[in-house]
Amino acid sequence: MLYPTPIAKLIDSYSKLPGIGIKTATRLAFYTIGMEDDVVNEFAKNLLAAKRDLTYCSICGNLTDQDPCGICQDTSRDQSTILIVEDSRDVTALENIQEYHGLYHVLHGLISPMNGIGPDDINLKTLLTRLMENEVTEVIVATNATADGEATSMYISRVLKPAGIKVTRLARGLAVGSDIEYADEVTLLRAIENRTEL
Ligand SMILES: [Zn+2]
Repeated sequence: MLYPTPIAKLIDSYSKLPGIGIKTATRLAFYTIGMEDDVVNEFAKNLLAAKRDLTYCSICGNLTDQDPCGICQDTSRDQSTILIVEDSRDVTALENIQEYHGLYHVLHGLISPMNGIGPDDINLKTLLTRLMENEVTEVIVATNATADGEATSMYISRVLKPAGIKVTRLARGLAVGSDIEYADEVTLLRAIENRTEL
């Protein structure tokens, strides 16, 4: 089936999104064409603005529209604790429960020996710089309970412990392989409260 070029291109764009096959992409493209002009304009504007205005915090790596991010700039937060997560969505999940008041560090990935991803391939170097320049007494590793999450947490513990920094890991309230992003608030809260030292 040959569609006019503009809709063929729109289908192609939608099909590049995760989890969207050609059938869904086609449905979305036709739906978009039927939408009101101002709704489509707003949609296009938001896409471009998200890409243009967002950046990664130069201190913690969190997704932000200001650098440093609001969390790193907030001097009322506990500067002695850094919680390490895989990506920015985990920060949002943890901020939503409003029980953690320290700082974060976003790795943008995990160490994965199986896939040849080492410590230098994720955002770890800036963490070491932060630890050298600031009075940090505890690092909480909140990577997911997967093989890569474990490998990452082991590595961090091995590197930081000789420096006299307490390294803890979220308690096993989270099921193996579960995503922090999707954990309910009570589970997440309990996992932080019952964190164990590595
Ligand atoms: Zn930050």
